Amino acid sequence: MTDVVATNETILVVGGGVSGMTTALEAAEAGKQVILVEKRPYVGGRISQLYKYFPKLCFPTCGLEINQRRAKMNPNVTVLTMAEVSSLTGSEGNYSATIKISPRYVNENCTACGACEDAVEAEFDDEYNYGLSKHKGAYRAHRMAYPERYVIDPAMIGTADADKAKAACKFDAIDLDMQEETVELKVGAVVYATGWKPYDANKIQPYGYDRYPNVITSVEFERMNDPMGPTGGKILRPSDGKEAKDIAFIQCAGSRDRNYLKHCSRICCMASLKQTTYASDAGAKSTIYYIDIRAIDRFEDFYQNVQNDENVSFIKSKVANITLGENDNPVLNGVDTEGYNRYATPHELVVLAVGMEPSIDASTLPEGISINEHGFIENDGTNGGIFAAGCASDALDVNRAVQSATACALKAIQVVNRVAGSEG
Ligand SMILES: Cc1cc2nc3c(=O)[nH]c(=O)nc-3n(C[C@H](O)[C@H](O)[C@H](O)COP(=O)(O)OP(=O)(O)OC[C@H]3O[C@@H](n4cnc5c(N)ncnc54)[C@H](O)[C@@H]3O)c2cc1C
Repeated sequence: MTDVVATNETILVVGGGVSGMTTALEAAEAGKQVILVEKRPYVGGRISQLYKYFPKLCFPTCGLEINQRRAKMNPNVTVLTMAEVSSLTGSEGNYSATIKISPRYVNENCTACGACEDAVEAEFDDEYNYGLSKHKGAYRAHRMAYPERYVIDPAMIGTADADKAKAACKFDAIDLDMQEETVELKVGAVVYATGWKPYDANKIQPYGYDRYPNVITSVEFERMNDPMGPTGGKILRPSDGKEAKDIAFIQCAGSRDRNYLKHCSRICCMASLKQTTYASDAGAKSTIYYIDIRAIDRFEDFYQNVQNDENVSFIKSKVANITLGENDNPVLNGVDTEGYNRYATPHELVVLAVGMEPSIDASTLPEGISINEHGFIENDGTNGGIFAAGCASDALDVNRAVQSATACALKAIQVVNRVAGSEG
């Protein structure tokens, strides 16, 4: 049984990406009790799926490692993975939360030795790699996944493979009888840090993501470039496994468009500019098709550096549609709005810069929570002791997400301090 102690001076953080971890750690390091609830088997969120960060082009693993170390060292933070809030009621300073914890089928005896993984054959789509690869039925999502513990895919339970995994474990860490648990908590303040998800590219019919193998998304491109990722860091065409040397990036793919996502995610321009550096490093040419490039503030220098790269060209145009050419090459059709020339240009690989939408389904949020027209949670003072950090509140880069998360830690601390003050 999971044993969690919480009072109405405790802060509940929902979502363990960089924002949730920041809120949890800042509050815990200020002496507050924090419960961090993460639905995946590991914390870190979507930054753990990026290859490099703009603007410095450093690896997200570095920041992740620091946060994980802070979490391990701080007894004020309790991390619950594979956990979700199934109900939240109450008011500022006095919330009741029900947390549902799914079985991992692996207990704390696990040393992450990998013997269970070696023992099983069953494979399942790997969510961490956006389905570009499979993971074994006993797996660890990535080499830095924290908690450092394996997971058994629930689809493997009851099969001979599950028994093989158990038999292979020398540490008695596999418990195939583990059941779903429900934990009831009292907390004083709640911070939603549930982040974002990529807009579903299947919905953008004119771009043929569902039909053309060499049309992929920006998040898949991140995984492809990671040396530990599904292609070993090589930019390979899904149709024939050949290295792509001529890559098109389509900006605002399904964004700023009333048919799809109305809002601008602000990150996608910088993400594509960053991704041209991956392409250049691999000896490939990039063409960016854009409406306007939104590289704000300090990102302007990054944009200029990319403009100076002779391997990168820019075409000011909203691509109308994609058709299929020879050799499975996607052909981009549209009008270039600088020369007003029609084009029909084949490329070896196309990367759709898809927008960011809120990951949490608004219907699962407590009644009365204020949400904007794009589904992001508002921090407008009407939500009592409930706040939204990072991409739960807007599409943000890491720097801004962390600032927002720190601000939420302060707001939550103020709420629980008021509780402590009124009780003392
Ligand atoms: C293609 C692309 C490239 C990018 N590259 C960069 C870059 O180079 N530099 C940069 O600064 N930014 C970049 N970003 C933006 C960056 O990914 C975000 O700023 C960052 O992920 C925000 O972190 P977060 O914690 O707010 O959200 P997330 O990373 O989405 O984390 C949210 C967490 O909450 C969990 N969760 C969701 N719902 C629930 C629930 N109901 N219950 C419990 N847990 C839940 C999720 O599993 C996840 O772990 C990029 C974005 C894109 C689209």
